Amino acid sequence: MNYDIVIIGAGTAGLTAAIYAARAGKKVLILENEGIGGQIATSPKVENYPGFSEISGMEFSDRLYEQASALGVELELDKAEKITDNGDTKTVKTEYGEFSCKAVIIATGVKHRHLGIEAEEKYMGRGVSYCAVCDGAFYKGKDVAVVGGGNSAVQSAIMLSNICNKVYLIHRRDEFRCEKKLSDEVRAIENIELVLNSTVQDLKGEGKLTTVITENKSGEVREISAEGLFVLVGQIPENAAFADIITLDDSGYIVAGEDCKTNVEGIFAAGDCRTKAIRQLTTAAADGSVAALAACNM
Ligand code: NAP
Repeated sequence: MNYDIVIIGAGTAGLTAAIYAARAGKKVLILENEGIGGQIATSPKVENYPGFSEISGMEFSDRLYEQASALGVELELDKAEKITDNGDTKTVKTEYGEFSCKAVIIATGVKHRHLGIEAEEKYMGRGVSYCAVCDGAFYKGKDVAVVGGGNSAVQSAIMLSNICNKVYLIHRRDEFRCEKKLSDEVRAIENIELVLNSTVQDLKGEGKLTTVITENKSGEVREISAEGLFVLVGQIPENAAFADIITLDDSGYIVAGEDCKTNVEGIFAAGDCRTKAIRQLTTAAADGSVAALAACNM
């Protein structure tokens, strides 16, 4: 057997799991197919992780990785493609190899769904954000826009209305998908303007975002002055490679409770990739420790 525990994903959940497992004396491998740190690595500032009043997402990720690496955790930049359950052992097949272990922790996170317009990439980190909780404070007193009509978008618009001068909530229909209580609340807030039946067509600004261009169902184009655009149009888990062995819900999240146990003994799911109500750095770290301690007992 190659390893005691193979962790898939080097985000906050995966790296926390690695630190706990390595400190318990286990031989640990992390597989990561993109960048170390996961989603948080792209956040300009983290101000809501206990113990750090301010740290960049990149530095936070680097520190987590350094901590894991110093404990002897190994990292392979490789994509996990299949997990096989052999009973007491598991095999993780990757793009370039194959690793056997006693337990697997899946910590693949989620990807924010993007609008898919060309300008979105250009203004990422220069006005375009995918997390109001993380980045809202940077727009204090400014005008911002939120796009989406689900719980995340509407809750974020409400939260931003307490920080920002004005919030435009852009949604492609005239009805919100969110809970009724939230849609009633958002409609009653004075500094939130609803821009309904509208989609974002383009973004403008010299270096930084200044203008969001929308078009409504009648074809009317509008230029909205906004320094921030919070894109909250849903999230996409990326667990399809494991669908043949573990249970996913209808949205593609791994079905696992607070104990991080999946339907297969010895395979755990930690962080944003599993079914859960709150997806934050703190809850990802919490899951990492829970999953690792359980995996150490396999
Ligand atoms: P969501 O519920 O899937 O809503 C996504 C929204 O984005 C929808 O209004 C959708 O429009 C819109 N949308 C999708 N693709 C778009 C595109 N390309 N362009 C423009 N708009 C687009 O996503 P979410 O709000 O992130 O929530 C995800 C899950 O977490 C949901 O189950 C939600 O209930 C849950 N959640 C719960 C809470 C809570 O407090 N309980 C908080 C946040 C999230 P349509 O409506 O037209 O499809």
